[in-house]
Amino acid sequence: MNGAGVQGYRISGTVVDGTGAPAIADGVVVVIGDRIEWVGEREQLPQHLAQLELEVLDLPGHTIMPGLVDAHVHTSFGEARSEEELALYTPVAYRSMLAAWNAKKVLRAGVTSACDPASTFNIAVSLRDAIEAGIVEGPRLAAAGAQITTHQGLEDAFPSWMEFPVGQAGVLVKSRDDIIEAVRLQVKDGVDVVKVSGSNDSAVTQGPVEGMAFTTDEFRILADEVHRLGRKCTVHARTAASVRATAAAGFDWIMHASYMDREGLDLVLEKQIPIVPTLTLLVNILDSSSGEAGASSLDVFKREVDAAAENLSLAHKEGATLICGSESGWSLVPYGEWHARELEICVTHFGMTPLEAIHAATGAAAVTVPRWADQIGTLTAGKLADILVVEGNPLGDIRILQSPSRRKMVLKGGVPVDLDTPIPERHEYSWERNKIYLLGRFRYDESTGRGHTVS
Ligand SMILES: [Zn+2]
Repeated sequence: MNGAGVQGYRISGTVVDGTGAPAIADGVVVVIGDRIEWVGEREQLPQHLAQLELEVLDLPGHTIMPGLVDAHVHTSFGEARSEEELALYTPVAYRSMLAAWNAKKVLRAGVTSACDPASTFNIAVSLRDAIEAGIVEGPRLAAAGAQITTHQGLEDAFPSWMEFPVGQAGVLVKSRDDIIEAVRLQVKDGVDVVKVSGSNDSAVTQGPVEGMAFTTDEFRILADEVHRLGRKCTVHARTAASVRATAAAGFDWIMHASYMDREGLDLVLEKQIPIVPTLTLLVNILDSSSGEAGASSLDVFKREVDAAAENLSLAHKEGATLICGSESGWSLVPYGEWHARELEICVTHFGMTPLEAIHAATGAAAVTVPRWADQIGTLTAGKLADILVVEGNPLGDIRILQSPSRRKMVLKGGVPVDLDTPIPERHEYSWERNKIYLLGRFRYDESTGRGHTVS
């Protein structure tokens, strides 16, 4: 603040602007109000901006970059440990409050925008609106509803003798009429993005990940109806067939694409469709478990990570756009902790430079947040002042973006985010999780005539 009533910042340090352009070693970013006013080399700073009375932050040894845009955050999942916990137990009203509490952690991690591609009930839409209204602190959100699925898609995870649970982050469609109705209903209910479950998934499917959840025609019907209503559509597509069909149908971006083949890649390149690989969840599964994980063995996840590394590094080499997403919201990827891990994976698995990885998590990712896409993602004059300042040089070591202690400043629309006041730990109720009596078996032991618990 200053006497002239202009509110803003003049921040100097190393500038990485998120466009993919090389860093400016001695750079300055000028913020006035909620916008970026100027970005460039210090010696080229215009006189009137040098003289303007602003808050001055001289930060040698720090990097000034756009706030992260995480293309894959499930704000309503509450760090669920299982499909049952997500779909059956935590009541919707409580889950909404939990989402508000978690949104703050996401923002504090330097994520100033995010896309939520699949929500339980319609929590993401309301959370987006509550954040915009100033009721809740969180990133700018793009919201999808429940993902549209079939019996062959992700989310139809429960036995066939049960009703499809209304709390599931999916909606089951059984006919082409259902498809049209589901899209129209979601648009009525305020989504920015329609998410389609295009294939099955190693986490919940026994057997190989193959085939498609919809026919090629049905993917086309989905994409056409979403576009007719002026929204974007994305798809969970792990298999080669589902990537081919959804690329042909004109989906706006494709999630995962781990097993994409040559034909799929050619379509993605021709139509310039970005891919959001989201290996963070799988890599975290491999790091966290031994033996079994979900419905599959760890070998299945290892195989997918290896396939994705091969197929998506080729995609990157040939010019496809890759976008970072963390899949925060499951217990494997707690909110606020792993949003920058996908940047590391871009370097270690997809053959990107750290500069390219930052672009994948900022400028390239803006497209997944449609209502602000042209105003976020890069440090460009006129865009919203969504800025992350970290201590150190992520171009030397991309992993430093994961360290909370290196986050020195987060601005969202020119307003500093409180990084210091601790977020209180929460109590967890047993009814959020399951109806288990005992996590193990209480075995009879003849030698003592008593019992003891084994796992
Ligand atoms: Zn997801």
